[in-house]
Amino acid sequence: MANSLITNFEKNVFNDKVMKERLSSDVYEKLKKTIENREKLDLSIAGEVAIAIKGWAMERGATHYAHWFQPMTGLTAEKHEAFLSVDKTGHMIIEFSATELIQGEPDASSFPSGGLRQTFEARGYTAWDCTSPVFIKESNAGLTLCIPTIFCSYTGEALDRKTPLLRSINAINKETIRALKELFNIEATKIIPSVGPEQEYFLIDKNKFSRRKDLIFTGRTLFGAPSPKGQEVEAHYFGAIRENVLAFMKEVNIELWKLGIFAKTQHNEAAPSQYELAPIYGNVNVVADHNQLTMETLKRVARHHDMECLLHEKPFRGVNGSGKHNNWSLITDSGLNLFSPGKTPHENTLFLFFVTAVVKAVDENALLLRCASSGPGNDQRLGGHEAPPGIISIYLGDQIYDIVQQIINTGDAKTSKCGDVLNIGIDTIPLFRKDATDRNRTSPFAFTGNKFEFRMVGSSVSIAYTNTFLNGIVADSIREMTDEVVKNKKSIRDVIKENLKAHSRVIFNGNNYTEEWRKEAEKRKLPIASSFVESIKALIEPHTIELMKRNDIYSKVELESCAEIFYDNYSKTINIEAKTMIEMASKQYIPSIIKYMNNLAETMNNMKIASDKVDISVVEQSLIDVSKLLSEAKQALENLKKKLIEAEGIKECVKKAMFYRNEIVPIMEALRKPIDELELLVDSNLWPVPSYGSMLFK
Ligand code: ADP
Ligand code: MG
Repeated sequence: MANSLITNFEKNVFNDKVMKERLSSDVYEKLKKTIENREKLDLSIAGEVAIAIKGWAMERGATHYAHWFQPMTGLTAEKHEAFLSVDKTGHMIIEFSATELIQGEPDASSFPSGGLRQTFEARGYTAWDCTSPVFIKESNAGLTLCIPTIFCSYTGEALDRKTPLLRSINAINKETIRALKELFNIEATKIIPSVGPEQEYFLIDKNKFSRRKDLIFTGRTLFGAPSPKGQEVEAHYFGAIRENVLAFMKEVNIELWKLGIFAKTQHNEAAPSQYELAPIYGNVNVVADHNQLTMETLKRVARHHDMECLLHEKPFRGVNGSGKHNNWSLITDSGLNLFSPGKTPHENTLFLFFVTAVVKAVDENALLLRCASSGPGNDQRLGGHEAPPGIISIYLGDQIYDIVQQIINTGDAKTSKCGDVLNIGIDTIPLFRKDATDRNRTSPFAFTGNKFEFRMVGSSVSIAYTNTFLNGIVADSIREMTDEVVKNKKSIRDVIKENLKAHSRVIFNGNNYTEEWRKEAEKRKLPIASSFVESIKALIEPHTIELMKRNDIYSKVELESCAEIFYDNYSKTINIEAKTMIEMASKQYIPSIIKYMNNLAETMNNMKIASDKVDISVVEQSLIDVSKLLSEAKQALENLKKKLIEAEGIKECVKKAMFYRNEIVPIMEALRKPIDELELLVDSNLWPVPSYGSMLFK
């Protein structure tokens, strides 16, 4: 039997092999130069490339093409066009021109632009990004050729997540190459910011999903009493994967392999019905596209298996939420990982220099990172069970932490702790060396061997966005530190020492979940943003605006538009959640509770009639308890309705978002509380929606 991995891998990608086969060698070389060396695209080759792509796609069965882009919704967008045209005599001809490949003009007016549209023209352009490969999207409904593009306004402002990412790659490329050359005498031609995103998700039964309006409209449960069993016994994590889930994963893998996505790892996650998929890391530009395709594929394939895939950061209260651990490193074109500590990291000045640059960048831009990793959904997750808290700190591991301490305390590091041999005491088991560093699962930003793992990132967040900021702030930090050596004539070791001293407050090796850490963080004056909405302001602080401008990543208006979109999106998200709660409470919960109360009242009356010796107090007490909670719920419900009308009247986007955060969210809680308590009292046959237990345990 053919091996599905071998037969499918990159089947739907216009990859290097296909390009070589179908393009003349001259055109192939020119295109390759742009892709690999980031050289300017020679537009004269576009005609031949378009013909080759069309031929390949049509042979595969595609009838349509689409410019595929990532608007500021954080999702992807595509508008399909048939490979179709009319000739002068009115006959159908097959066509896909150079212009159609290179440029498109979707109507930009219905995508969020955060004010950019008022200031500028409504036109939006998509432009081919040949550094991410063209691919075919295949589903039971047909095949579509997708051309990865950027999306910008008439005056060149980014209207998407991709343009700033590409700019940030240029920035970090430039600064890192300079530092390597001027400080370490290393000639690199290209730096690849490399990312491996671990994607967490939940799978639940489709029928149960379709009976929960909250899941349908908001992606998370807005009500729900905890099930008797949660994740306390830790039976699910890395457990044997159930057969139906394995069948789902098998199909997901095949679909991802076809797209050239290096889907590698899969396992059960900590919460019941929670899973993870991780690809092999690669160039962040391509990986960001792949992650979008992965999320889309997970959702699409789940439906083939009568399941629904939830990508929300916190679908269920009381059990773990989902993140997207963003493993990030800088690798040169010759394969040198700048975060590789080597055997004696204390002597590895290059390594210490780049690690220090990250420490400095994270400390100076903590709130920005909080914003770049989140959305309204991540608020439910951060600080919860196992999730990193809303405070950014860096974990360096014992070995590097020890070196940093030596440098800070004595001015230099003389030794490196090394991992011992792990002896289990069984002769047949091989001896091996332990890593010099254990893992710290509680840190939002952890150094894990030869990469940084940014764990705060939410499961549904666009990593194009997260990595734009990560690349940007580190690029800036590298430039400043290089300047200190080159312009201010300091030694590299001194620059490392000074910066570690200045930014040591952001380093924390302990348990991030504790209350003590929160207090300690306050003492260290680290920014604590308990909600995403409080972190949005970081985007438009002068420090950020200048940094992003200096590095040609975002202009001031672009950042302002990002912030406006976030405030607006936050308000809209909470508004939808609140309205969904109102609908569920009014039409589902309250009528069912009243029915139950009526049953109790009837029972009580019937008991009374049957005999005056029957003790009706239990039934009566139940009725009183239920009635009390119902009144509480009803009051919160009316309150919520009133507040929503008030919110509608607020026009200014920051005020509005803060109103949702400070006034609406607490009332949503006040409504949820009595309903969840009632779920434990009311006859389960009358309860109108599936319970946590029935959704999470099958
Ligand atoms: P764990 O859950 O133990 O952290 P996983 O195997 O689930 O590990 O995921 C680790 C991720 O980190 C993978 O996507 C992997 O390819 C990626 N990764 C490994 N090395 C690097 C690196 N140098 N740069 C970026 N990502 C990396
Ligand atoms: Mg993992």
